[in-house]
Amino acid sequence: MTELSTPKHLPGWTHIYSGKVRDLYVPESGPDGYLLVVASNRISAFDFVLEPPIVGKGDVLTALSNWWFDRIDMPNHLVPHTAALPEIPADVAPRAMLTRKLEMYPIECVVRGALTGSGFAEYQQLGSVCGIELPAGMQDGDLLDPPIYTPAYKAPLGEHDENITYERSVELVGEEVASQLREASIRIFTEARELAAQSGVVLADTKFEFGHDPRTGEMVLADEVLTSDSSRYWDAARYADETLPRKERLASFDKQIVRNWLSANWDKQGTPPVLPREIVDQTLGQYRELFERLAGSADPEQPAA
Ligand code: ATP
Ligand code: MG
Repeated sequence: MTELSTPKHLPGWTHIYSGKVRDLYVPESGPDGYLLVVASNRISAFDFVLEPPIVGKGDVLTALSNWWFDRIDMPNHLVPHTAALPEIPADVAPRAMLTRKLEMYPIECVVRGALTGSGFAEYQQLGSVCGIELPAGMQDGDLLDPPIYTPAYKAPLGEHDENITYERSVELVGEEVASQLREASIRIFTEARELAAQSGVVLADTKFEFGHDPRTGEMVLADEVLTSDSSRYWDAARYADETLPRKERLASFDKQIVRNWLSANWDKQGTPPVLPREIVDQTLGQYRELFERLAGSADPEQPAA
């Protein structure tokens, strides 16, 4: 994995961790239990952090997560800022989420509402995805209705996440939590898919992360949610146009652009090549367009669900 560049020092905050995309901070003083999650402009694909950063991406990712958190009917990790906490420096504020610090479940809750990507590759070999049998004759991009839940084990930093069966997730977190994670993931995905459809967007798949709040005992929706980094989104009109070749029907608003370019220009050995300017610009453009499509069509008079 690429070395992460040193995260920015934020006055009043202590840096505790950097994932591939986000930098995490806790208050230097004041109450416990808070976590500042700052989305960087880093982009990762195939578990590698790539160069160069995509300036502006952190803002769009944060705006997308906030937009979805407002609309999802489940407790989430966002908390209001209080005077007892250090200020959030203005230059990172558009990329920052103030959250409750949770005990994260080590499960990436993947929901697939379409058969594509690694899921389609597995289906072509085995006729199933993560142990779930699917009907014969499905093609890349075919919708899955109801969607399927295919969890992954969230590997420690530097290791690759590993697809697991539902039964393995029960061994990891216990029956009760595993079934709550599955139920919440499918429910949120199904609601979000309907909402995205109203904006002419197909939500193909996504990954949620949940945590346990030790203070309330609640299961809480955390991390980023339904962003272009964690999800696949397609344009509904293109998707429906059967005169187009399949690849063009699945043109996306997410980092598939980066994955496609890397697959064509790199053998996945050693350090990945630097992304060309046009791929950086296209990616940012697609992330922004997704946000505009979703938020632009939202009725500001309508209170969030
Ligand atoms: P890794 O953690 O393996 O590097 P990643 O590259 O996906 O994974 P990022 O998304 O960059 O990581 O960083 C976000 C990290 O913060 C994740 O490890 C995520 O589980 C964790 N996280 C998100 N929200 C919370 C929260 N409210 N409390 C505690 N941890 C959280
Ligand atoms: Mg992450």
